[in-house]
Amino acid sequence: MLTTSAFIAFIQAYTNRLDELQPLLDQLDNQIGDGDHGTNMTRGFHAANERLTSTPADDLGALSQAVAMTLLSSVGGASGPLYATVFLRFSAQWKGQSQVDAKDITEAIVQARDGLVARGKAQVGEKTLIDVWSPAAQTLQANPTESGILAAAKAAAEAAVGTRELVAGKGRAAYLGERSRGTCDPGSVSSAVFFEEFANAIVG
Ligand code: ADP
Ligand code: MG
Ligand code: MG
Repeated sequence: MLTTSAFIAFIQAYTNRLDELQPLLDQLDNQIGDGDHGTNMTRGFHAANERLTSTPADDLGALSQAVAMTLLSSVGGASGPLYATVFLRFSAQWKGQSQVDAKDITEAIVQARDGLVARGKAQVGEKTLIDVWSPAAQTLQANPTESGILAAAKAAAEAAVGTRELVAGKGRAAYLGERSRGTCDPGSVSSAVFFEEFANAIVG
């Protein structure tokens, strides 16, 4: 079960993790991109946290929408519109609800994955955050329960590590071609931590 207070706690916990991970995410992005993924994500989620303090907390749809709009306006990089898409899909799925169960959560994650694909046009294997969202959504679809949410977080973590061996086909890293191999995709790492904290907020 995801309640509005668990959702707010999730955004707070994810922001705290991003603060810790900012140097690592920037460093990964420095290897294969422009070095700002950690900076972009911390800026966006700090702004989202602040916005949530002035958003009525009885509707998961409204809370998700507020996060999406804040990410769109505060993050300039590719990750802003991508993570905003995730929260827009959550918002459409959870509109008017103050709590949702594992089935509603599964549907929202699947919708978010589809939204990311529609937005970024990346296929699985192109070393983007789709490489994490796709196996996580599939894991949850196969087991739409609270234990499935934990399994999805585990699949996400493994998939993020797996992006190290991939050659980028989308995003800035694609300019490096073969030289993008050997570094984990920064957006995949931030997505794996997203699933870890999401599972914590729901099950933990
Ligand atoms: P920018 O590349 O604009 O500097 P960020 O560094 O914040 O933005 O985000 C980079 C991350 O965005 C990448 O690690 C990758 O996971 C993700 N990304 C970039 N382009 C795409 C795309 N077309 N589809 C899916 N994810 C993408
Ligand atoms: Mg970048
Ligand atoms: Mg950038």
